Amino acid sequence: MKVLGIESTAHTLGIGVVDENEIHCNVKSMFEPDEGGIHPREASEHHYQKALQIINEVDQKTEFELSEIDAVAFSQGPGIQQCLEIGAVIARTLALKYNAELIGVNHCLAHISIGTRTTEAENPTTLYVSGGNTQIVEFRSGRYRVIGETLDTALGNALDKLARKLGYPHPGGPEIEKLAEKTDEIIETTYPIKGMDLSYSGLVTDMERKVGDEKDEIVANTFQEYAYSAAVEALERAMAQSQSSEALLTGGVAMNTRLREMVAKMCEERGAKAYFPPPEYCMDNGAMIAHQGLIQARAGDRTEIEDSQVDPNWRPDEVKVSWI
Ligand code: AMP
Ligand code: MG
Repeated sequence: MKVLGIESTAHTLGIGVVDENEIHCNVKSMFEPDEGGIHPREASEHHYQKALQIINEVDQKTEFELSEIDAVAFSQGPGIQQCLEIGAVIARTLALKYNAELIGVNHCLAHISIGTRTTEAENPTTLYVSGGNTQIVEFRSGRYRVIGETLDTALGNALDKLARKLGYPHPGGPEIEKLAEKTDEIIETTYPIKGMDLSYSGLVTDMERKVGDEKDEIVANTFQEYAYSAAVEALERAMAQSQSSEALLTGGVAMNTRLREMVAKMCEERGAKAYFPPPEYCMDNGAMIAHQGLIQARAGDRTEIEDSQVDPNWRPDEVKVSWI
């Protein structure tokens, strides 16, 4: 089966094509605001403007004709409504044009399934950390379960916000990482864990208040050490509870070297394995949506046009899993 997948939940418009054997292409364009965070209208305008160019590039890079596509998958949620809608319109249009099945997929589950496709992980406990989401997810007894999650802001968003305060443009995660590498020093602040859940907004506010009084690199390093330790602690507790022997780290923040180091060390100490997908598949991308569409299409999942409206708040634990 050949599946084309469209990702448009937030800053990235991505289109990928996969089949059972190969990821044929994975083209994307990321919206980068001149200042501030991601404005829904500006991001969706970017997706609208770039759509044709990306489709043409996908057409050129794919060895077969796009008319041979069996299914068109798209991120149906969760995400920014205006951005999701652009992806859904492109998906409906291409599905009708190529006489292909339409499949709306959950963006969070796509991050997990591309993680298992591109690594040796089989049924991992996943720490999914991105701009808009921070969750610890496991597949148990027929459903994906959210074992822990952020109660307020997502980890990526928290990094971006602190970076803005320090004077860096979006995305700020890599800038915080570079700053933090310059020091081992940390200062005392709030530890952002609440039971199995995380809460990053207080930590961001406290670090924002320290900007100017403390060196930028100490602020950045403190944020990283506290934020990542709490996430890895929740991940470890989830693994202990379910006796999981595999951890998967995914989402844009999974590119962070310090976070990877902490996950790897925790797994080593528990005798578990840590898996890190290639960076291209950690960030939002179309290939992961195509792959999620492929496994669902094989199980007979379809989305009728009249059921294809987007859902900005669609949780992974609400998804009916028919394909495992
Ligand atoms: P996503 O929403 O999955 O595409 O991920 C985007 C988020 O990943 C943004 O908040 C970025 O700041 C963050 N990010 C990207 N690279 C890094 C990095 N090296 N360290 C920390 N965060 C990062
Ligand atoms: Mg994502």
